[in-house]
Amino acid sequence: MSSQLDPVTQAIRIQSEKTQHHEHSTPLYLTSSFTFEDADTMRAAFAGESDDNIYSRFSNPNVDEFIAKMCVLEGAEAGFATASGMAAIFGSFFALLQQGDHLICCSSVFGSTYTIVTKYLQRFGIEHTLVPANDEAAWEAAVKPNTKMIYLETPTNPQLEVLDLEWAGKFSKKHNLILNVDNCFATPLLQRPVDFGADLVVHSATKWIDGQGRVLGGIILGRQDLINEIYLFCRNTGPSLSPFNAWVLSKSLETLDVRITRHSENALATAKAVQNHPEVAWVKYPLLEGHPQFDIAKKQMKLGGGVFCMELKGGVEAGRKFLNALELLTVTANLGDSRSIASHPASTTHSKLSSEEQLAVGITPGLIRISTGLEKDRDIIADILQALEKSAE
Ligand SMILES: *Cc1c(COP(=O)(O)O)cnc(C)c1O
Repeated sequence: MSSQLDPVTQAIRIQSEKTQHHEHSTPLYLTSSFTFEDADTMRAAFAGESDDNIYSRFSNPNVDEFIAKMCVLEGAEAGFATASGMAAIFGSFFALLQQGDHLICCSSVFGSTYTIVTKYLQRFGIEHTLVPANDEAAWEAAVKPNTKMIYLETPTNPQLEVLDLEWAGKFSKKHNLILNVDNCFATPLLQRPVDFGADLVVHSATKWIDGQGRVLGGIILGRQDLINEIYLFCRNTGPSLSPFNAWVLSKSLETLDVRITRHSENALATAKAVQNHPEVAWVKYPLLEGHPQFDIAKKQMKLGGGVFCMELKGGVEAGRKFLNALELLTVTANLGDSRSIASHPASTTHSKLSSEEQLAVGITPGLIRISTGLEKDRDIIADILQALEKSAE
């Protein structure tokens, strides 16, 4: 594939080698292992002298096609695909950190990531410091002689805080640290952390990359030397992506550019349509004026992505009523779907936390997260407006 072609074109055209049937769409390689002509070719494959496939825990043509497309989109040297986003994040930590190492982690990261960092890393003697987004002095103060990696997410889920990637890239280079960025919310079409100096990029492919709520998947991309370590760790510990899911995700990448553009347009239009509603205290969207990091978002993101948040003046009770009143939008625990989704963290995902704990992680009582789908914007807006009326009753 000519590297002169735009990454969007390459994500449509990269394809595993055609079989003797000359198929147009890539076939599904549902096979656990691969065969060898003789003992010596098998020996050479195991010795790493050839790149023949051996076993689908290590590599598979469908998985390799997905990785190749993602590398081009992210501008990354190499990658390894995993069964879920969490497997990618876990693998990026455990392959590279060891007892005695220290990790600096942004305090507003995805819930399960927070659990890995605060509960499991320390069981293995890996220290961490949680640092608020964009508090540059706190990030400087957190650096220790044994610090090895920085981990952050931007925009964050669900608070939509935006972290300055240019700053983070310079900071990591200055202290010689591995910069590891969760790029799930932006996707490589809207933001490329590698261009700002990220060493690793992790994704939950379950969200916008699949984009239709069908399969789980994840991927770690970045510097070849780091991915080599991650490959060996994952090849032995087994979080590999299934060929079927890889096939679905590779096909999804052919439409990611058009989808994420439409998702972003719908999100911006909907956020604007509700921002002055009397039941809405505030609306937050990376590329909507009034976002606290609007200038950073404008600098590093092509479009604002498919998610916006709003705070209902009526708090927890209004949040519950809002979800119950929706007729078109779905109430479900996913995001990044062709169908619009609403969630109310205070009464669902974060309901086990006390109200103080909720506030500490940015979950206000009336916070509603909308993942804007591909429906016509006026239908999405009409449903949200009618549910807002009912939330106040
Ligand atoms: C969903 C999500 C994850 C976890 O991905 P899974 O595919 O569900 O394991 C990680 N980071 C972010 C930002 C997410 O939204």
